[in-house]
Amino acid sequence: MSKKKNEELKKKLSYENKNGWDLSHSSKDKVFKFSEKYKEFIGKCKTERETVNFVFDEFEKKKKKEDITVINRGKNIALIRLGSENGMKLIASHIDAPRIDIKQKPLFEETDIALLHTHYYGGIKKYQWFNIPLAIHGVVVKENGEKTDITIGEDDRDPVFVIPDLLPHLSHKVIDEKKVKEAFDAEKMNLIVGSIPFDKDEKDAVKLNILNILYEKYGIKEEDFISSELEIVPALKPRDIGFDRGFIAAYAQDDRICAYCSKEAFFDAKRNAKTVVALMIDKEEIGSDGNTGAKSRFLMDVVIEILKAQNRDVTFESIGEFFKNSEVLSADVNGAVNPMYKEVHEKDNASYINKGVVMTKFTGHGGKYMANDASAEFVGKIRKIFNEADVNWQTGELGKVDEGGGGTIAKYLASWNMDVIDCGPALLSMHSPYEISSKTDLYETYKAYKAFFEG
Ligand SMILES: [Zn+2]
Repeated sequence: MSKKKNEELKKKLSYENKNGWDLSHSSKDKVFKFSEKYKEFIGKCKTERETVNFVFDEFEKKKKKEDITVINRGKNIALIRLGSENGMKLIASHIDAPRIDIKQKPLFEETDIALLHTHYYGGIKKYQWFNIPLAIHGVVVKENGEKTDITIGEDDRDPVFVIPDLLPHLSHKVIDEKKVKEAFDAEKMNLIVGSIPFDKDEKDAVKLNILNILYEKYGIKEEDFISSELEIVPALKPRDIGFDRGFIAAYAQDDRICAYCSKEAFFDAKRNAKTVVALMIDKEEIGSDGNTGAKSRFLMDVVIEILKAQNRDVTFESIGEFFKNSEVLSADVNGAVNPMYKEVHEKDNASYINKGVVMTKFTGHGGKYMANDASAEFVGKIRKIFNEADVNWQTGELGKVDEGGGGTIAKYLASWNMDVIDCGPALLSMHSPYEISSKTDLYETYKAYKAFFEG
């Protein structure tokens, strides 16, 4: 056979992933423009509450006649475009992210420095959080029920906060010679919040000064911390990476990049006979428990709202029937191959940055333990939708078999008897304070979600 014929046969039969920048259909200008708006969102929405508020405000501006929304405790939101058919097309992302929470009795003074005790949230590498600028976001609920929002560390004129690391000169025994896992003690991850004493003869005068500042600025007393949710997040702004500006660095792209794309897709998608829903969930990073996590019955409340709006009966059977007729993208990120640590992946089945949105049939660990494992039928259906809409997509798995692993909300969604597959972009440095995404993957994720809503 001639070389040309071989080439033709190869083109016809083999499967190959493409680099998004090589494809003509996603023009660079469009991709860059989309990225700018995303950067604005990801820089502003640093907590689940802030994300819900941001998305709700936008919904109020853009909603159409057949759109409704359901919010749960300020931490979950469902954007719903009602269709006539039974069942829904659901894109479910999570809007919590790894971070450092403060403890309920946080404020103390040691060697004339005021600090806050903390408790980390989600899967972090502790050492990444020392000596970087941090901001405090969250709410304090006073005894009378009044809620005070606090955001400090984001404005250029704001102070920031830091968890102090130890100088290398004295680190040998207490840090350097230990295993990384043991070297960084979570109880030492305390946040510096002050250093000026209130009055020189007072005991714990620096702490008192901080209490006084908090009282004057926010009307907060020490006991109010007990009913607070204050989250310590990187005070880092989203920035482009590289001479060519192809990548974006930002905090909490896992998983607000998917939340963003699902919201954009929701507003832009052509109407479908099926109801389409963009759902944003909390608590994924700590196992999806709690009344705002994916294991809660909030999703059933959403379905009940849809059934009522469609003038259908709300019965045990009708809810079950609705779920059975539903299809879901569990919108979450995957870990892209880091060029310096290729050994943790199996190269043929890993996901790569720039190669498009990732379809992950199963996550979990060991022998697919705790995995959703989407059916061949459903994977086939999604593949078709993506191909017809010219979406650049790839498959992925979370590392080599038995290398480690992880999970998403896919299995909790699947437990309602819906078809579910994980689908989102691959990130570099996932779960770090400054995660890395690709602009072309961001855009392809949006395209994929829009195609799913329309398909
Ligand atoms: Zn995630």
